[in-house]
Amino acid sequence: MRASLHLGGKRGVELLQAPMLNKGTAFTKAEREALGLRGLLPPRVSTLARQVARVLENFRRQPNDLEKYIFMVSLQDRNEDLFYRVVLEHLEEMMPIIYTPTVGQGCQEYGHIFRRPRGLYVSLEDQGHVKQILQNWPRSDVRIIVVTDGERILGLGDLGANGMGIPVGKLSLYTACAGIHPHLCLPVTLDVGTNNDSLLEDPLYLGLPQRRERGERYDALVREFFGAVQEMFPTALVQLEDFGNTNAFRLLREYRERACTFDDDIQGTASVALAGALSALRLTGGALTDQKILFFGAGEAGIGIGDLVVAALRAEGMSEAEARLRCWFVDSRGLVVKSRPDLAEHKLPYAHEHAPVADLQQAIETLKPTALIGVSGMPRAFTQPVVEALTRLNERPILFALSNPTSKAECTAQEAYSWTDGRAVFASGSPFPPVTLNGQTFVPGQGNNAYIFPGVGLGVLASEATRVTDEMFFVAAKALGESVKEEDLAMGRIYPSLTRVREVSVTIATAVAEVAFARGLTRRARPADVAAHTRAQMYEPEYVTYV
Ligand code: NAD
Repeated sequence: MRASLHLGGKRGVELLQAPMLNKGTAFTKAEREALGLRGLLPPRVSTLARQVARVLENFRRQPNDLEKYIFMVSLQDRNEDLFYRVVLEHLEEMMPIIYTPTVGQGCQEYGHIFRRPRGLYVSLEDQGHVKQILQNWPRSDVRIIVVTDGERILGLGDLGANGMGIPVGKLSLYTACAGIHPHLCLPVTLDVGTNNDSLLEDPLYLGLPQRRERGERYDALVREFFGAVQEMFPTALVQLEDFGNTNAFRLLREYRERACTFDDDIQGTASVALAGALSALRLTGGALTDQKILFFGAGEAGIGIGDLVVAALRAEGMSEAEARLRCWFVDSRGLVVKSRPDLAEHKLPYAHEHAPVADLQQAIETLKPTALIGVSGMPRAFTQPVVEALTRLNERPILFALSNPTSKAECTAQEAYSWTDGRAVFASGSPFPPVTLNGQTFVPGQGNNAYIFPGVGLGVLASEATRVTDEMFFVAAKALGESVKEEDLAMGRIYPSLTRVREVSVTIATAVAEVAFARGLTRRARPADVAAHTRAQMYEPEYVTYV
């Protein structure tokens, strides 16, 4: 019977303490009687809807965002169906708490606000025992793993083992935004130390109290982890998250052809930014092939976006060399140009012939870009003179300030609209409230990766894909761009409303699954109706009737 299958013999208090089974006050009279719960709960039976109302009342009473975050983490630890019901029904209110920006603060304070462990912690001390750690995980059907080594958490830098908040939060978004069942998700932190002195000095820090390991010992741990995953959870997708940029590019290159893996900071960001650019063009009127994009920041996000833009331009018939010349980068040492001796490998394809330029405003005036994309983690770098320089060149400048969290944004929405007299087509990484200027209200789009990675994950899961390819991120970007409605654009919003994210995820997942089937990268045959098959995989946060 369904009930006994679900409960695994659990009864009474044990049932109340199992977050995936617990219904709290919503256990019916019959369930209370049959499952040894009589008297363990207050007598009046709640519905899921009433529990949602109770949670919201308590949530909104919390004095600040960090307390709201702690409150939601605790709810997730008590009752997962209720947690996801609340998140799903109030996504716009919950997302900035369970993910960026508040999750950033949650990570910074991780050792201080820690209540219960969640996910798996694999440290340097576990070398040789990683498989055993995966065996300790209570479920064998793991389909999505998000793993970080905590070196570059959002734009906050090295947070070591405190980074665990990110895989946990990201997987919550897989479930909320694309209906990946929480049972199938596994958050993992690889603890290889930290170079963050304040954490090393903090007695409440929970990670290994040592400096970050690099070189062969690091590589061996990652290798052992991938090997153990392939053995224990052979159908799992491994999402790499918030690795420092040397490791991120290297690991992606090393594992993408051998495992079902992708890096969201590189590929997911690229896809969401390309989608934003495609819908921005519906407002500015140009074609992608007419654009020249200046990136401020040449790390994972910037180079990832550049590479996908190049792929999109090539799909329009442009040569690779010409496509690369449409993307220029400024990093902390100025314009990325060929004559610079110090360039990291990932920047080389964009090191064009040009005289050195030290400063962003000068780079804009010299290169005359149509779009400026901030992915530097450098707050307030888009000053008024910078934004005005871009506006002098373009009737409708495309201006994305994607750095996270909010405190790191290159400029605010208010600044973007007011310094351009409302002409900017603006998107940000963290959410900003609408801005009213001269009687017109602009709703800034949030270039949130949560529009992309959950749908990609669902597509991989539904098709049982064996690899994740750039083409999948390209079709995901197109699908997201096409889902933006005219009424969104009329408000200046170049992404759909978050309230539609599940529907958008199904569209993306279907497109991704179709690529996997077309390229022979799946473990199963193509179902007749891929969209219906994809939809059928989705988890709805609702209570099961046990008795
Ligand atoms: P990264 O560390 O790989 O790269 C940062 C880049 O910025 C480096 O090239 C660095 O040289 C450059 N930089 C730093 N300071 C600078 C300065 N003063 N002037 C010019 N360049 C400077 O990081 P990343 O993964 O590329 O992420 C960068 C930012 O983008 C972060 O804040 C991150 O949160 C954000 N991001 C946003 C989204 C999104 O909104 N969807 C997705 C991914 C990353």
